[in-house]
Amino acid sequence: MRTPLIAGNWKMNGSAALVEEFGHAFAEARLPASLDVAVLPPFPYLDAARRAFEGTPLRLGAQTLNPLHSGAHTGEVSGRMLREFGVEYALAGHSERRQLYREGDEAVLDRLLAALNVGITPILCVGETLEERDAGQTMDVVLRQVGYVMARLEPDQRSRVVIAYEPVWAIGTGRTATPQQAQEVMAGIRQYQAGFDRELAAGLRLLYGGSMNASNAAELLAQPDIDGGLVGGASLKVDDFLAICQSA
Ligand code: PGA
Repeated sequence: MRTPLIAGNWKMNGSAALVEEFGHAFAEARLPASLDVAVLPPFPYLDAARRAFEGTPLRLGAQTLNPLHSGAHTGEVSGRMLREFGVEYALAGHSERRQLYREGDEAVLDRLLAALNVGITPILCVGETLEERDAGQTMDVVLRQVGYVMARLEPDQRSRVVIAYEPVWAIGTGRTATPQQAQEVMAGIRQYQAGFDRELAAGLRLLYGGSMNASNAAELLAQPDIDGGLVGGASLKVDDFLAICQSA
């Protein structure tokens, strides 16, 4: 009942040529019948990506957005603008935004609400650091991040959120969480949601992120509570990303 979602987070990487390459490859790709796939390129490539991805299964996503619609905010991009370029997904709370740009839970919530308000599906990113895992705080940290946002949403908003569990120690490190580690935390997120609303929890899409690649994706995606992936490094190589999509 939950359609898998594979989202490629290019971060501050990629090029106009890579956009074209993805468009060509996915125009001919054979993918599972029930699968959502999105690419999240840097802002300057959105327009080219929209054109290159036309007629392919690829949907567009954004890596962040400003909570306001418009105004004197030099360097920022609003959800309304993203919507004009066909953006359907947006990250909120990626660990790099939390750490490098000091976005706390409140800022994450603002961005997530802004996405919902313009009809963009937010992907809420949560995850513990290595110190937190070693201190046995993984579940506390993850459920605090999830709970802060979900408790402040209306039920119909909650049902439109996708959650990505990305252990910070696994992001860009080549050190993937084991399928068991990921499954344990993700089952915990679903169980926590079930405490409020069983039906919503059953339909909630949970993605794993953190060094997912073509060789470990199938095993991760086979876990009962993993409904897809948020892929960084491996989403920059079209063959790898395609292979991940095919194993969903
Ligand atoms: P990674 O990044 O796949 O390169 O670890 C994942 C992410 O940051 O979303």
